[in-house]
Amino acid sequence: MPELPEVETTRRGLAPHLIGRRVLAATLRWPIPAAIRNELPGQRIADVTRRAKYLLLEAETGSALLHLGMSGSLRVLPAGIAPGVHDHVDLTLDSGKVLRFNDPRRFGSLLWQPAGTLHPLLADLGPEPLSASFDGAHLWRASRGRRAPVKTFLMDQSIVVGVGNIYAAEALFAAGIAPRTLAGRVSLRRYDALATAVQRILAHAIERGGTTLRDFLSPDGAPGYFEQELFVYGREGERCKVCRTPLRHAAIGQRASVWCPSCQR
Ligand SMILES: [Zn+2]
Repeated sequence: MPELPEVETTRRGLAPHLIGRRVLAATLRWPIPAAIRNELPGQRIADVTRRAKYLLLEAETGSALLHLGMSGSLRVLPAGIAPGVHDHVDLTLDSGKVLRFNDPRRFGSLLWQPAGTLHPLLADLGPEPLSASFDGAHLWRASRGRRAPVKTFLMDQSIVVGVGNIYAAEALFAAGIAPRTLAGRVSLRRYDALATAVQRILAHAIERGGTTLRDFLSPDGAPGYFEQELFVYGREGERCKVCRTPLRHAAIGQRASVWCPSCQR
């Protein structure tokens, strides 16, 4: 599933192909709001931004909101290449290229947000993890009185957006916090360490993703994070890379979780 770093990497790869381009046609093979078909053609894309895991193609009368879902991907192709069975949307650009949305599992979405409004899906989101409004004090304040495990709390999109299972597991390891600790019991000092770890790990993954995206015409959907860099995620049954203690694993908030009982308290 594309996580925030992959969506941000996609945004950075697409932006030079889209900004300043006029959309000539929106060809849909998908039940998608007519607003896209009615509003987008003829408009110039002024900017390509991201909020949580949504990409926003910002035009004059509104924004096209794209979510990649579980398996979606975007490619910029020369016009005239016939769509395949999982290619659901083509935006034809005045550059002679096509922005094509492919999604084998059909959980992605394309929605219209009129200018001056906020789509309901974006209404109750927490701060961006890489913005100045996200820090340890934010986590500490938001967690007082909360009895949810800190890992579940960190993955709550109303607290902070875009910290998926991989990044939550790795950030908690980096900060030395056991994932089942109640969110309301974690100190400000430890939340400072956690916020710093979240930012460092996400920024690193975005940077990695960027290096795999030199040629956006052939993106392979490579994740921003490399397996050998993971300390706990997906390593159940193995030993801690730092202290050699066997890692523990359990479902926390219905999500597979792995941690080191010695490094994380
Ligand atoms: Zn350890």
